[in-house]
Amino acid sequence: MKDRYDVIVVGAGPAGSIAAKTAAEKGLDVLLIEKRQEIGDPVRCAEGASKIYLKNHVEIDKKWICADLKGSRIYAPDGTLIEMAEEISGGEVGYVLERKIFDRALAEKAAEAGAEVRVKTRATDLIIEDGFVKGARLMHLGKKYEVRADIVIGADGVESKVGRWAGIDTALKPADIETCAQYLMTGLDIDQEYCEFYIGGKLAPGGYVWIFPKGEGKANVGIGLLGSETGKFKPRPIDYLNKFVEKRFPEGRIIEMVLGGVPVSGSIEKTSTNGLILVGDAARQSDPITGGGIINAMDAGKIAGEAAYEAISAGDVSEEMLEEAYEKRWRTTVGHEIDMSLVVKNCFINLDDEALNSLAHSLKDVKFERMLLLDLLYALFKANKKLLWDLRVLFKDAAKEVAKNKL
Ligand SMILES: Cc1cc2nc3c(=O)[nH]c(=O)nc-3n(C[C@H](O)[C@H](O)[C@H](O)COP(=O)(O)OP(=O)(O)OC[C@H]3O[C@@H](n4cnc5c(N)ncnc54)[C@H](O)[C@@H]3O)c2cc1C
Repeated sequence: MKDRYDVIVVGAGPAGSIAAKTAAEKGLDVLLIEKRQEIGDPVRCAEGASKIYLKNHVEIDKKWICADLKGSRIYAPDGTLIEMAEEISGGEVGYVLERKIFDRALAEKAAEAGAEVRVKTRATDLIIEDGFVKGARLMHLGKKYEVRADIVIGADGVESKVGRWAGIDTALKPADIETCAQYLMTGLDIDQEYCEFYIGGKLAPGGYVWIFPKGEGKANVGIGLLGSETGKFKPRPIDYLNKFVEKRFPEGRIIEMVLGGVPVSGSIEKTSTNGLILVGDAARQSDPITGGGIINAMDAGKIAGEAAYEAISAGDVSEEMLEEAYEKRWRTTVGHEIDMSLVVKNCFINLDDEALNSLAHSLKDVKFERMLLLDLLYALFKANKKLLWDLRVLFKDAAKEVAKNKL
């Protein structure tokens, strides 16, 4: 390991690897560090990702695809089924990945582009001088290193410390975290071409249960609950999950277990400062409704890599420069989607089971393969006029989408 690079990227998840790859492709000298000994393992994810968005970043490789989905099936509290085509099911529905292979493949792409990849290397602090981040303190096999760089990219996931070290407030309230529990199960009798979602206050308060098929009778079966709905005197996500699994898959076998959290806060105020960029879960860029963050992490990772190049080439890594090159760009793309999702989440979170059932009844005969956002809003309007009023800001976007499709 050298003692100086143009860029240090902390964390080799999807955000960090895409940021490192992008910066290295631009000709920057990049160090990508990962504290674990194997990139992508252990997995803390249901591994669902939209096909079309993935293709924006990597060539699809069968090695890391477990299932190719046609769509999603959403079950209302009374069991009413809504079936949606893959194209309109959101950023988590498309392929079910094998992230142990996928994450490593992304890091390999960063290495092929010229980045130096170091596993079992943990960032323990930042070097900060004259109000600028100037590098990071690292630990590798018990030995300490001080490595300098023009820009540090913090891609260290939901438990990120890099932002805090630089004085950026990334703290999350319990209501801003989806607390998750998941089993990888085998011996399941499920349709391998559809993922399933179950909603309702009894099954998953403030969240949902998911089943993501992984081929050969296997699936990720998990649950996410709002942090405010669980805690000391309330059942834990795993308690709800066990109840669901006992009923739905009495014959299934559990072969892996995952516990973890996902930020569902929506955009935070600041994700960069002098010499530092935060990206992915570290920047709280996951979707506030679903908790999905792979695609957003990759999209923002690309912007971060490009922004690092622009700032370093201009000889200006100040907060003002990064505001232009990074903050503004991710907020008008990834951030805009996040803001819209937050509006919808804040409405749906207040619906009881009866209201959810009534929405499901009004949507169950809609042909989702051909539906535009406006059609969906119209169907919702028929079911619940108050909801439509609460969601009125989305109309501007829906109208734009319709106009775009007609041109
Ligand atoms: C149960 C569960 C299910 C989920 N399901 C989905 C899903 O189906 N679809 C979807 O899109 N999203 C899903 N998500 C969210 C998704 O996993 C994350 O949004 C995504 O992984 C974010 O990528 P990232 O690169 O920002 O962070 P991560 O993938 O978390 O990567 C961060 C990396 O940084 C490393 N690191 C941390 N600290 C340091 C340090 N100090 N030094 C060096 N390395 C460090 C970590 O080891 C890790 O490898 C799920 C999350 C959970 C918990």
